[in-house]
Order: sequence, then C-alpha cells, then structure tokens
Amino acid sequence: MALPEGIGIVVGSANARVGLEAGVETLKAGGSAIDAAIEAVKCVEDNVEDRGVGTGGIPNVIGQVELDATIMDGRTLAAGSVGAVKEYPHPIEIARKVMELTPHVMLVGEGAELFAKHHGFETANLLTEDAEASWRERIQGGASNGSSVYEDSYQLYMQVVDDWTKKLHEEIFGTTNVIVRDAQGDIACAVSTSGWGFKWPGRLGDSPIIGAGNYADNRFGSAACTGRGEMAIRCTTAASVVMYMRHGKSLAEALEAAMVDLRHLDDPFAGERSNVMNIVAMDREGNVNAASTSEESTFVFQRTDMSSYEEQARLTVPL
Ligand code: ASP
Repeated sequence: MALPEGIGIVVGSANARVGLEAGVETLKAGGSAIDAAIEAVKCVEDNVEDRGVGTGGIPNVIGQVELDATIMDGRTLAAGSVGAVKEYPHPIEIARKVMELTPHVMLVGEGAELFAKHHGFETANLLTEDAEASWRERIQGGASNGSSVYEDSYQLYMQVVDDWTKKLHEEIFGTTNVIVRDAQGDIACAVSTSGWGFKWPGRLGDSPIIGAGNYADNRFGSAACTGRGEMAIRCTTAASVVMYMRHGKSLAEALEAAMVDLRHLDDPFAGERSNVMNIVAMDREGNVNAASTSEESTFVFQRTDMSSYEEQARLTVPL
C-alpha cells in the first residue's frame, strides 16, 4: 500500500528510535529525505549509551574509536562514504560532504580526517569511560593500563579473534540504519557505525561500502544492514534486496531472498550469534519491513502523520 499523498516516513534499526522524531520533524519542516536521514542518524551518533555508533562506540583493538558511515541518494544514486575516521563525532555529515562536494564516493582514514578538518568539522573525544573500561576488560584482561604498541596488539588481536569464535558478546556489534522517503517520493539511506568492537585498525565492514551495507534507488527501494559486515560485503546484501525488488519480488520476498543468499557463505561466525545479520528495507512506495536471523530483533518507523514511532518484529530468516 503506497504512502498517502504528502506523507513521508522514516524507518530504522531499533537503535534509531532516538532519531526518528528528529527525522520526522525535518521532513515536516520541508527538509529532503537526505536531510531527514542525516538528522536522525546524528541523534544516534550522539547517544553515548549506544555502544555501536558514534560517541560511546566500542574502540578498535588499540583503544581508538573508528567510525564508518554512508549516505545514498535514491533520486540520483549519488553516494558518500567515510571509513575508519577517528575523533569526528558525526561521520554521517562528513559522508554527505563527500557525496556533495567531491568527485569521489569514499574517503578513509587520514584522508577523510583531513577532508573533515578542511570543511570545518569539530573533533571530540569519542572514547567514553564505559567504552574504555570494556576495552581494558576485554583486551587487557582488566589491567588498569597497558601497551597499545602495534606488535603487542597484534598478539592480543589474534587472541581476541580466537575468542570471538567461542563467545561473541553483545558489545561486538552495533550499527544504525535509517531509510527515509519524503513526500516527493525521494528515498535516502544513511548508515553509521563504530564497526566491530575491538576490530583491527583500518578494518572496514559493510557500513561504509555502498551496495553492501547501504543501497537506495527511488525506482525500486532501499535497504541497509547491521550485523556481521564481512558477510554483507561478500553477498552485496543491501544492493541484493533492491535488485530482487527490481526483478519483481515484493519487499518481504526480496528481504528473504537476500537473507537466503547468505546461507551460501562459509563463515565461522554465521552460527555463533543469533542476530548475525539484520536488514531494514523500504519499497519504492514507502512500505517498510525488516529481516533478521534473530527472532528478537525489531525495527522502528514513524510517518509524518504519526505522533510517535511504532516498533515491529522483523521477519525471521535463520541462516
Ligand atoms: N555491520 C557492522 C560492521 O560489520 C557492525 C554491526 O552492524 O554491528 O561493521
């Protein structure tokens, strides 16, 4: 069922609930789908309780918070992305500038930080006390201080990787997905993450990769992922959902088909964690739905004619 005339919608992963109102208010004030998606994601990036996005995100193996973000414009298929950016609290805004001001799609690491500096973005300390305590506990075994020397970290990293196969825990994952359709029918998709907790410095997941963790095309719809990014990269999961809709599948069928594709992957973590893959999606008419490997995973959405958001269960598609 298409959205009523003049109505916009914001949909996201459950942790995007803190930003839905900002997204809806932006649409009501005449902002575009891109504006609304960015405003919604910035709220999640600022939420220090969220251990997987922006300030408060779990750091990499040497204790630095490294952020990835993407924005895609479904009207023009323009896209902007930043990866492994440190000290900038709103990577989603930097991604937008990459999209709007450069002939590139993706900037990473020092180059992205230099670009952010030249465009007047302010730096901040993103490592909260809680996140630092988690890092000390997990990586240094509770030691009050310790070396972050590269060589030592490699040994630590390999221990952590070994450990991951035995016990993935809640802090490892976390990303936010926001898809918006404005009253003009334009769709935008924004994704932001601190990536896999305790990752190797420079590791990029699906979130900064257009097609893997984010895709939007007004003509067919949009999708974004959270979960084990390495899997979404290998199956181009977000683009697959949109591609399946392009080839005639309904939103729910497209979500299911993209999840089923993941079954072909040989991945050591696929069976280790119940919500190893999650997708939020929208069809071109503004209908929304989501899928997850977990029965517990939910998603949230709010139309501009609703006073608060609604939370719904996702389709469960086990791997
Ligand atoms: N997909 C993100 C990544 O792999 C993490 C997550 O969604 O939890 O970096």
